Amino acid sequence: MNSLMSTYASLPITFERGEGAYLYDTEGKKYLDSLCGIAVTSLGHSHEGVADALCDQARTLIHTSNIYHIANQEKLAEKLCKLSGMSNVFFGNSGAEANEAAIKLARLYGKSRGIETPNIIVMEGSFHGRTLATLSATGSRKVQAGFSPLLSGFVRVPYNDIAAVESTAKHNADVVAILVEPVQGEGGVVVPDADYIANLRKICDANNWLLMLDEIQTGMCRTGEWFGFQHSNIKPDVMTLAKALGNGVPIGACLAADKVRDVLKAGTHGSTFGGNPLSTRAALAVVDAMESGGLKKNASEMGQYLHAQLAETLSGVAAVKTIRSKGLMLGIVLDRDCGALVGQALEHGLLINVTAGNVIRLLPPLTLTKDQADEITRIVGALVSAFVQD
Ligand SMILES: *Cc1c(COP(=O)(O)O)cnc(C)c1O
Repeated sequence: MNSLMSTYASLPITFERGEGAYLYDTEGKKYLDSLCGIAVTSLGHSHEGVADALCDQARTLIHTSNIYHIANQEKLAEKLCKLSGMSNVFFGNSGAEANEAAIKLARLYGKSRGIETPNIIVMEGSFHGRTLATLSATGSRKVQAGFSPLLSGFVRVPYNDIAAVESTAKHNADVVAILVEPVQGEGGVVVPDADYIANLRKICDANNWLLMLDEIQTGMCRTGEWFGFQHSNIKPDVMTLAKALGNGVPIGACLAADKVRDVLKAGTHGSTFGGNPLSTRAALAVVDAMESGGLKKNASEMGQYLHAQLAETLSGVAAVKTIRSKGLMLGIVLDRDCGALVGQALEHGLLINVTAGNVIRLLPPLTLTKDQADEITRIVGALVSAFVQD
């Protein structure tokens, strides 16, 4: 027994250091990291630019307070707005906090329109975090189990179902926003129809609702664009980021478009650590490295390459139902639960994840090379073939 709460069913392994796409455990064994701490270390481990920035900032200034101006925070906000076309940013420390800000923004927006009990449309199979508001928004019984009473004000519809949203628009006058992932991550790497997000945009415009995109997993070049919505020809009203934004340094962001840039006013929201000089310096280094390294393009190209290699290798395996992907966010869907593959992959020196029970999820670093993609394909191909024969 150790002194930690048992909130995680952790695998019996401890990593000591990381370098690029590889991790080394306490025995010195090497692993190819095809998970990146769930889409976090997108630049790879021990990234020099981020490490240098952190060291320099730690020796200069780590924390002041949002009572004062923070130059790095202002610079980062400007950069993110430029990349996304959004208007301003609130910084927190995690994905859940970014979504909390979005939910609070939507409620204030509703009040400003005279709606006393504002509702937000959320999706089946979604994941938005583990705080009480975000788990209430999440479309998973498992995440919600035991935590009732849940927060009210969420209306749930199936993902990738425009008719269900239209029907809600007709029958519920209290809706003020839609909160949705451009690709569902925890839900099983579910890629919606190509026009889904654009159609949601149209419904939001017609009803004066906010389109709020949870890009915590899809953002920061993961899908082959800076942000997932850039595959559609639209802009959201609110977008949330976290995960890869700091390459492992905790930071989250809620971005607002011009129309709602003044909804969260002084005194309505805040965070002690949010956007402090250290985390925002790290995120500036991340953006810089993604830009100069051409990682958006690499994620797109290597995503297609890895998808094609996996499809070829697994083409004869009947238990593989389909492979879904957007950039370097990939899901191999099996006809059975396959959680055991995570441990088997570890034995073979590969980090993967299984989500939604039967979906092998791959989130390799955006710096992925062809050799590394081939290594992933070789190990996953062999493991899946052996697994479904048992
Ligand atoms: C990981 C994730 C979150 C929650 O982020 P935390 O930093 O764990 O709070 C929210 N939404 C999506 C889509 C995620 O992938």
